[in-house]
Amino acid sequence: MNKRDRKIFASAIGVFGSDEQTRVAQEECAELIKALSKYHRVITYQSNDKRKVQRCLNNIREEMVDVSIMLDQLQLIFDFTKAELDEAREMKVRRLEERLPLEEE
Ligand SMILES: [Mg+2]
Repeated sequence: MNKRDRKIFASAIGVFGSDEQTRVAQEECAELIKALSKYHRVITYQSNDKRKVQRCLNNIREEMVDVSIMLDQLQLIFDFTKAELDEAREMKVRRLEERLPLEEE
């Protein structure tokens, strides 16, 4: 997160409190889950309605952004460093890579 975002997020946590912002994070995660569920329902039963599919994609993008904003705030609330998160992410990506079939040369 950049300096400006960090300042704004820290201010939001200061104004609304850590408890409230962790609840907002839960809500935003739920909204992304709902957006993904709806997308699956629409592409399963209404895939020919391109406007509806596009609305679902727009909604997924918006909820992904909301979640990413709340992830940044959770980082501040729980005082996780970027290095800690990067290290944990690298480990998870490596684990995922190991589960994939080996690439053919
Ligand atoms: Mg949202």
